[in-house]
Amino acid sequence: MTRKIWNGVLLCVLLLVSCSQEEIPANKFMQYAVSEFPAFDDADSRAVGTPDLGKTNWQKGDQILVSLTSQKYGTNTSVLNYDGVTWTSDVSLPYLVGETPDIKAVYAPAYQWTDGKLTLKENMMAGTEEYIEARCDIRNNTINLSFANAGRNYSRLRIATTPNLEFAFSANGFTPSGQSGAVNATYNLRADANGNAFLYGTFGQGASVSFLTNYVMTWAEHNFNTPTLAGKSYVLDATDNPKNHPYRKGDIVTLLKNPNGNCPGCGKPSDETPTGTIESVEKMENGTIIYSVKLDHCENTIRLQEAAISGKKHLYSIGDVVNCKKWTIEYCPKCGKLIMNYQATITGFRGIDAQDGKDVYWITRHCCGYKTSVSEIAITGLVDE
Ligand SMILES: [Zn+2]
Ligand SMILES: [Zn+2]
Repeated sequence: MTRKIWNGVLLCVLLLVSCSQEEIPANKFMQYAVSEFPAFDDADSRAVGTPDLGKTNWQKGDQILVSLTSQKYGTNTSVLNYDGVTWTSDVSLPYLVGETPDIKAVYAPAYQWTDGKLTLKENMMAGTEEYIEARCDIRNNTINLSFANAGRNYSRLRIATTPNLEFAFSANGFTPSGQSGAVNATYNLRADANGNAFLYGTFGQGASVSFLTNYVMTWAEHNFNTPTLAGKSYVLDATDNPKNHPYRKGDIVTLLKNPNGNCPGCGKPSDETPTGTIESVEKMENGTIIYSVKLDHCENTIRLQEAAISGKKHLYSIGDVVNCKKWTIEYCPKCGKLIMNYQATITGFRGIDAQDGKDVYWITRHCCGYKTSVSEIAITGLVDE
């Protein structure tokens, strides 16, 4: 019997005309009908950051990974490509007319076929992209792929933060899309131009997420009391909230006066009220916010809590581009240009003028990069950008 079937296949290959209809591979004119792309429902109506429904339509370049298992030809895989109008396949998937092949299809941009198995693409982590399984059936040589929220057995987390921010993010108790079983994973994410980054998967009861990146001006964390629901989008508010941290990187601040008059950075006598620049803002595990402050006195960096900082006493921050003016006509000693109204970048805090009590900043002039200092009374404001 087996031998007879083999003979039949050979005959099919060699003498197509003589084959009975039951044994003709039926893939020759195979077509695909793909349903619309299912959008997420917002689980949270708060307006946080810039809301983004995410993908709502198929786009040119989208791909669907398809496998077809025929009793006759075994399992074969293909990739469907969308050209903006129709879906076409790179290879045909053979089966026989009269067979009911087992078809699986998934929209999973992080995955590819490798030797008949779905594997993650290089540098991709599960949970960073969608993984929607289609409901499949075959009728009249057309494979119908139905994508609906039913095929999306996970939720989406929109992390609303600072546009284009790159950050490390931990997710514990998180089952990434396309996976079964919760993991504790660290993701290196980058927010898009709207300040959104996304994770796709299910956060179980007791799951938690948090920013791991130090020196980040914004952060948030969340514990999930109830599991997230399939097809729903959740938002984590990690937008910059000045209430969380009144001081930012680059701010020039005055510290509380040290009772013994010594500099808190080097311990040497210093009768000035210490001043310094915020170099970084970190959030400790217990929620305490720690500022690293580089002292103007000795350029040592010390770590302080907010209470040790008496306030931001200074109008301008490191990196600010400002307009300055001189009261008398003068030539820049480096480039020789006439200096009256000019632009400069604040590079440091020189101290407080003993005569008039005004702040004096280190600056770099834009005419030629000449480094000098200027009193705040000569700064007319920030350059509008
Ligand atoms: Zn010092
Ligand atoms: Zn110059």
